[in-house]
Amino acid sequence: MSKYEDIVNLALRRSLFYPASEIYNDAPAGFYDFGPYGAAIRRKIIDVWRREFVQKESMLEIYGAQTMPESVFNSSGHLKDFNDVITTCKKCNSIHRADQLIAEATKEHVAEGMLPEAYTDEIKKHRLKCPKCKGELSDVKKMNMMIQAVVGIGEKKSVYMRPEACQTIFTNFSRMAKTMRMKLPKGIAQVGRAFRNEISPRQTLLRQVEFSQMESEVFFDPARINEVENFDDVKSYKVMILKDDGKKVEAIKASDLVSKKIVSGNLVAYYLARTQQLFESLGIPAKAMRFREVSNDDKPFYSKETWDFEVETSVGWLELIANNYRTDYDIKGHMKGSKQDLRYVDDQGNKLVPHVWETSIGLDRTFYTVLEHSFKKEKRGKEERTVLSLPPKIAPLLVSVFPLLSNKPELVEHAKEIYNDLKSCYESAFDAAGSIGKRYARMDEIGCPWCITVDFDSAKNKDVTLRDRDSGEQKRVKIAELRQLIFEMYAGIKTFKKL
Ligand SMILES: [Zn+2]
Repeated sequence: MSKYEDIVNLALRRSLFYPASEIYNDAPAGFYDFGPYGAAIRRKIIDVWRREFVQKESMLEIYGAQTMPESVFNSSGHLKDFNDVITTCKKCNSIHRADQLIAEATKEHVAEGMLPEAYTDEIKKHRLKCPKCKGELSDVKKMNMMIQAVVGIGEKKSVYMRPEACQTIFTNFSRMAKTMRMKLPKGIAQVGRAFRNEISPRQTLLRQVEFSQMESEVFFDPARINEVENFDDVKSYKVMILKDDGKKVEAIKASDLVSKKIVSGNLVAYYLARTQQLFESLGIPAKAMRFREVSNDDKPFYSKETWDFEVETSVGWLELIANNYRTDYDIKGHMKGSKQDLRYVDDQGNKLVPHVWETSIGLDRTFYTVLEHSFKKEKRGKEERTVLSLPPKIAPLLVSVFPLLSNKPELVEHAKEIYNDLKSCYESAFDAAGSIGKRYARMDEIGCPWCITVDFDSAKNKDVTLRDRDSGEQKRVKIAELRQLIFEMYAGIKTFKKL
């Protein structure tokens, strides 16, 4: 079984994530729900991003509506340019993404963003047929990927589900500049949903129709792109870079990215470094990461410089983040479309259309990748155990409390007392069902880092057994010290090993 299948099995078994509306067989593909443990891990990944990115970079976090009027996407260019190229089978009517079809058949790289005719030529050149029935394929057409909806009872208005969360940030920009006394450079961040009408949603969380993004847009004066207050913090930090013309990943100091003109300036190098640091704190080793420079042929229509952040997984290098230098494209577009002056005004009264550096993180793909990198199957004596070695800050539960035997009321009572105390501080669980080994196994596979077992000595000695998920080791710990100890291990002040 592949690691991807292992994760999907675990997700279904423990309800981490599963198909939305699964009790109905007309539920479309590409939508997923998260159960309690999955929702907790997801929320904690957001917390880490919020702490490491939003808070440390003093960004403004907003929360915007997902549905926006047509005019927004006229201005942003999505109505015209946010397309997939499709071809239809003349025999079985199945629809295929032309670029993917060509890439899969020829095993060659196919540029995104070519004209439909160019893809039609490729299909004819390689004599490609429908992969389902070998039927003849139609000429390639553009298909807009946005999901349209209608709002209103009397007068109906055409609206769209936003295809990227950031458009809300751009429509908010001038309000933020005025009411939040923004000083450039300044980031505005948002976690939220976005929607894309995928032709073939697949691989569960990896290609969905409705998905979540953690986005930040840093607004700056392009003449001052090198003025980054905390640049010294990252200047010697090595960023994993795969250049457009490169064959292998190089670890390059952030300061060298700028001096060797690999990126546009300090601000870009700074955020690439901070992004990599964010993923290290989610438990992913730097050697499994890379920033891949996206060639001019493949860049999104709004970007001057694009670095895709990718992580190595069992399904290949997975793109988790689009890092885009969007210049003044969006603000200018919205100024034209809304006929409003959205320029930034500095202390001297100078007006300027700021440039934008975007870090657009796919939350669901990050969620999947974090699970895969923490997933382990281990032989322990005769038994095999499954472990999610999640960093404690993203574990769905921090601690679980068990009575050694479930049929001894005094043990159950005592364990409940400890559980009730701990759950006022930490995400905790109580479990008295099944053998102690089974209870440990259930906690290991959802990534709970510590388990506490109350036994016959506990009442007398005022201590319990504390078990560590990753090593499986157990130590005796005073009950009175539990609260403090768990906090210190959570915060990384103490380690289980050194207790
Ligand atoms: Zn067909």
